[in-house]
Formats: sequence, C-alpha cells, structure tokens
Amino acid sequence: MIYLGCHLTSSKGYENMAKQAVSINADTFQFFTRNPRGGKAKEIDPGDVERYKAMAELHGFGRVIAHAPYTLNPCSKDSKIRDFAHMVMTDDLLRMEYIPGNYYNFHPGSHVGQGTEAGISMICDMLNDIIRPEQTTTVLLETMAGKGSEIGGTFEELREIIDRIRLKDKIGVCLDTCHVHDAGYDIAGDTDGVIEEFDRVIGIDRLKAIHINDSKNILGAHKDRHAVIGGGYLGKEAFRRILTHPALDGLPFVLETPQEDLSGYGDEIKMLREMI
Ligand code: FE
Ligand code: FE
Ligand code: ZN
Repeated sequence: MIYLGCHLTSSKGYENMAKQAVSINADTFQFFTRNPRGGKAKEIDPGDVERYKAMAELHGFGRVIAHAPYTLNPCSKDSKIRDFAHMVMTDDLLRMEYIPGNYYNFHPGSHVGQGTEAGISMICDMLNDIIRPEQTTTVLLETMAGKGSEIGGTFEELREIIDRIRLKDKIGVCLDTCHVHDAGYDIAGDTDGVIEEFDRVIGIDRLKAIHINDSKNILGAHKDRHAVIGGGYLGKEAFRRILTHPALDGLPFVLETPQEDLSGYGDEIKMLREMI
C-alpha cells in the first residue's frame, strides 16, 4: 500500500491540516513550514500538535512532508542569501521535532553561474552544518527540472550531494514526477527504466517520498510547470504505473497540482484511488 495526499494550507495549524486531509480521504500531506517566500514562522502550539498526533494516529497517516520555502538558495553567490537559507532551515529542523520522524524537503538551489561543483560544495557545507545527530527528521533533496542553473536536475548531482553528507541516515530524496520528466527522464514512457536508473545512481533506499504532478511541458523541457493528473504530457496511465510500482510501495505520494481548492484535490485523490 501507499499513502496518498496533497499539498495543504498550514496557516491554521497542524490539527487543521489533519482535518483537511481526512476530509478528502488523504492519509499523508505536505505543507510549507512558513510563508513560501521565507517569512517568519508562526509560533507552534503544543496543544495543537497533540490534537494533530491523535488524529494522525487514529486515521493511520503515513509520514508527512514539510516543504522549505522555495525561494531559499543554499548555493547563492551572495553570502547573505546563503546565510538566510541556513538560518531558516536550522529553525525549521528544530520546529520539526514537534512532530518527530517526518520529512523536511527542500530545493537544493541554483548555482547562478558559479558552476555545479561550487554549488554542490555550498549545499553540502550547509547541510553538514545544520543536520544534527539527535534529530529525528530526514532531510529530503527534491529532484529538480534543471531550469536555469538549478542543482538536482540529474540523479548524479543528488548522489554527489549525498556522498558528501556526514550523517547519511538523515538524508533522502523526494522524486517529483513533473520535475524528472522536465529534466529529461521519461518517467511516463519508461517508468521501470527511470526507477532502475534512480536505483543504480542513488540507491532506491534513499527514495522517501514522491511528488505526483503531471507536466505542462514536453520531456526534457527544463521548465517546471505542473499540470493536473492527466492534463499534461505524462498522462493518466503513467500515474497508475507510478503509484503501483513495487519499488515505491509504502511511500507517501503527494499532489502539487494546480487545483483551485481542497475539493479539487479531493476529486483528484478519489480518481487516483479508483485507478489503483
Ligand atoms: Fe518543491
Ligand atoms: Fe515538487
Ligand atoms: Zn515544481
């Protein structure tokens, strides 16, 4: 079995997210740790967290995914921007310990002309600095579309990052189906082949979560524009193969499709559950 959910609004707290998830028959979800632009995080209410945990347990939720603000850039040319990413992610990881044992996903960053090697070096310096032995959260590198100077558009780059992380049991990968397709991996046409390639380069044990998005662009477009399931170049049938792939059994699958509201995600989840 797999866990299925979507990206949810976190502004009303954890218990509210659990209620949103239950209302659309989801058993996992993703949320931004703070304003996606990187603003100050809201104070955590321990009572809210306790009510959340009770609900998550009652409804058999899988692990959930916190997403770092997507504007952070751990490998910027500007040290102030790098320091900001360091500060936000350090704080987020501390806050994650309110809900122990879950995932913290981030975009590795863009090297902005400094070169892939320099970028990877900065990302690893930051990660080695902020990942603590006592944390229960696994940090996930997201597979990227390879737009501009983005790092993480190839499995080799992610492998390179993981190789240089000291606390290896705290690091994993979240595969985004739109991103890998845009990066040039034919996840729709050759699902088995791409998963085998992931296993060969990174190791399937590192794969901890899946973002399920269709793509508005053709294979290898390096664009990153998500489409609803069946509304893009991957097509509905590809998602049946992805969601039922034996190598992905037990993982949380989270939609980040362009839905107007929660009920839109509810319909998409219903469609996917019927399909699998
Ligand atoms: Fe993302
Ligand atoms: Fe994603
Ligand atoms: Zn994306």
